[in-house]
Amino acid sequence: MDVIVIGGGLMGSAAAFFLTRRGARVRLIERGYIGAGATVASFGNIRRSGRYLPQLPLAHRSLALWHQAEALLGRDVEFRATGHLRLIFDEASLADMRRFAQDAVHWGLKLEELSAAELHHRYPILGPTAIGASFSPNDGSANPRLAAPAFASAAARDGAEILDHTTITSIQRTEAGFTVETTKGTYHAEAVLNCAGAWGRQIAADFGEIVPLTMHGPQMGVTEPMPHHILPVIGVWAQHHGAYFRQVERGSIVFGGGVPRSDVGPDGYAKVQFDVLPEQLRQLVQIFPALRDVAVIRQWSGCEGYVANGLPVMGASGTTQGLFHAFGFCGHGFQLGPGVGDAMAELITTGACETPLEAFSISRFA
Ligand SMILES: Cc1cc2nc3c(=O)[nH]c(=O)nc-3n(C[C@H](O)[C@H](O)[C@H](O)COP(=O)(O)OP(=O)(O)OC[C@H]3O[C@@H](n4cnc5c(N)ncnc54)[C@H](O)[C@@H]3O)c2cc1C
Repeated sequence: MDVIVIGGGLMGSAAAFFLTRRGARVRLIERGYIGAGATVASFGNIRRSGRYLPQLPLAHRSLALWHQAEALLGRDVEFRATGHLRLIFDEASLADMRRFAQDAVHWGLKLEELSAAELHHRYPILGPTAIGASFSPNDGSANPRLAAPAFASAAARDGAEILDHTTITSIQRTEAGFTVETTKGTYHAEAVLNCAGAWGRQIAADFGEIVPLTMHGPQMGVTEPMPHHILPVIGVWAQHHGAYFRQVERGSIVFGGGVPRSDVGPDGYAKVQFDVLPEQLRQLVQIFPALRDVAVIRQWSGCEGYVANGLPVMGASGTTQGLFHAFGFCGHGFQLGPGVGDAMAELITTGACETPLEAFSISRFA
C-alpha cells in the first residue's frame, strides 16, 4: 500500500515510522524543516492528568511508546519519566483533582494525592502556598526539538521517503487513489493521511469537511541554567491557563502558561507577546521562589490548531475513501504523538484500530 503523509510534525513523522513498520510504502511531505511547526515549539510535557477521560487509552498507548522510544528510534529523544506534579492552590481545585482522580482510575490512570505537608517535605524548594498536589509517577517529558526528526529519520532508515521543503499545493481523488501536486512534482498514492497540524483544516475543507478550528500560540520561555532543584514536571490544577515549568538537564527552566494564548493571523505565524512575561513570572515565582534570581534568556510561541470542543480530529474522512485525518491537537498533542502515529498506521493498514477513536471522528462536525 502506498501512503502519502502530509506534514512532518510529530504526528506525521510518527505515522510515517509506524506505517513503514507495518509494510506500507510511505512518502512524508513537509513544506519546511521536519518538526518545525507546533512540535518544535512544544513545552515537551508528557502528561496524562487532566485529560478528557475517553482520550486516556490513546494517551496510555502513547506513553508506552515514549518509554520504548530510544530502542525503537535508535536515538535518545530525552524522554525522562520524571513524574508530573500538579499543584493545588484552592479548595475548588482540590475537589476538581479528586473528582478527576476518582474517575481516571476506571480509565487506567492512578494519581497519587500529596497533602501540603508531604508536598513541602518532598519538595522544600517549592513556595509555601500550595495546599496539596497530585503526582503521576510514570509521566514526564521529552525534547520537542528531537522527537519529530528522530521519528522521520527512523522511518527513512526503514524505507520511507522523506520530502522536506516541499509544499503540497493540491490533492485530487482519482479512481486509483490520490494525485498529490507539490512544489517538487506530482505523486500518487492509495491513501493520504492529513497530519498538517493547524493547517489540516484547509485540507479537510478541500474534501468538503468543515472543522471549527482556530489557531493560537501558547507563550513559552526559558531561563539561564541554575543549580538542579527539581525533577518532575510541575503544573497547576486551575480552571484556566495554569502556569507550568520543568528543569531540563543542563539546568534551565522551561516554562509556559499562566496567560491566555495569543491569536494567530492567517499567515500561521505565532508571535511572542513580550508583555505577558511579568504575569507569567509572578505566578511562577509564587510556585518556585528561586526563579526570582535567574534571567529569562528566550521567549517563543508556536502555531497550534484548537478545535471547538477541545478534542483533535482523528480517523477516516467522512467524505472521501482513502483519506485519513490526524490534526488539531489543541495544545496537548506532544504526549499523544507516538500513539497517534501508531494508531493511525493500524487504522490505515488494517481498517480498524484497537484504541477507541470515535470521540475524535471528523464526522462529529458533519
Ligand atoms: C507553544 C506550544 C507548547 C506546547 N506544549 C505542549 C506540551 O507540553 N505537551 C503536549 O502534549 N502538547 C503540547 N503542545 C501541542 C503539541 O506541540 C502539538 O499538539 C503537536 O506538536 C502537533 O503536532 P502536529 O504534527 O499535529 O503539528 P505540527 O508540528 O504543526 O506539524 C504540522 C506540519 O504540517 C506541515 N504542513 C502544513 N501544510 C502543509 C502543506 N500544504 N504541505 C506540506 N506540509 C504542510 C507544517 O509545515 C507542519 O510542519 C504545545 C504546542 C505549542 C504550540
